[in-house]
Amino acid sequence: MRVSKAVKVGNVIIGGGAPVSVQSMLNTPSADTPACLAQARVLEGAGCDIIRLAVPDMESVRTVGVLKEEIKAPIVADIHFDYRLALESAAAGADKIRINPGNIGPDDRVRAVAAACRQRGIPIRIGVNSGSLEKEILAKYGSPTPEALVESALAHAALLEKHDFNDIIISIKSSDVARTVRAYELIAERCGYPLHIGVTEAGTERMGLIKSAAGIGSLLLRGIGDTIRVSLTAPPLSEVYAGIDILRACGVRGGVKIISCPTCGRTKIDLIPLANEIERLLAGCAADISVAVMGCAVNGPGEAREADVGVAGGDGCALIFKKGEVIRKADERDVISELMKEIRAITDG
Ligand code: SF4
Repeated sequence: MRVSKAVKVGNVIIGGGAPVSVQSMLNTPSADTPACLAQARVLEGAGCDIIRLAVPDMESVRTVGVLKEEIKAPIVADIHFDYRLALESAAAGADKIRINPGNIGPDDRVRAVAAACRQRGIPIRIGVNSGSLEKEILAKYGSPTPEALVESALAHAALLEKHDFNDIIISIKSSDVARTVRAYELIAERCGYPLHIGVTEAGTERMGLIKSAAGIGSLLLRGIGDTIRVSLTAPPLSEVYAGIDILRACGVRGGVKIISCPTCGRTKIDLIPLANEIERLLAGCAADISVAVMGCAVNGPGEAREADVGVAGGDGCALIFKKGEVIRKADERDVISELMKEIRAITDG
């Protein structure tokens, strides 16, 4: 596990061994404050730990202020080029500023942003993407290689370090999974800043999720990554669900784990809708338990020995089992209620 510097973003800590947080970004027009607020509430309710808002103009700064009043999750102001928007967002209460200091002009502007953030205890995220690398770095490396991404991110960080500003979080994303993973591996060795990880512009909901799971997952399993964003061409709510599921799949966040078999010619129960329904019913359950949903009694309980509780299809019945041991039979029609009864007994007890 890589140990990074702990950076405070509102009521959430990023890095320093804190739980890996899930972020998403509003896609409502930033100047439409009521729409942004409504979407932020939905994301917060779904478990989004940190909410980002694009701030392209002064009108949008007002939204930052309103979100800060109404939403408990930290609010990040995402700014391109205009340092005055960073200053105004900081004054409006933003919990983090995403800006690349190398893109905002002369050093006195960098100093002003660093001073405003330091005064309010706000960190800055530097976000380097392969599509927006500086011309000189691109010329030096010939293409947006992992080394080029790292050089760019560290150069941006140096501009802040020059002003003794170190509350920095770094992201270096590419839409290519292998390049993203390599870039994060390199920067993890080169600095102690917490890392915001993700595959950028990963694609539509299905392929984007697969690319994100491959990229974010392989980094998390190496102990790299302090906060994540799954970037999907889909509603932000999908990004939040995907992010939480990736954390669970990698074992870095608890919650219900469904173990279900792929079905085969031995399947004795209508398993696919059953597994989906059980997953749906347990979606809001915070208990750290595993639940097996298996197609047959021959292999089911044995294959799902690790599960705390489970169900397996039998001949005209369903078998309820715990830790691989069958505890009783249930009528196939009652299988969901019987299973839920056992789950409640575990989670309430
Ligand atoms: Fe087939 Fe039974 Fe294995 Fe499911 S648990 S895949 S039904 S053998």
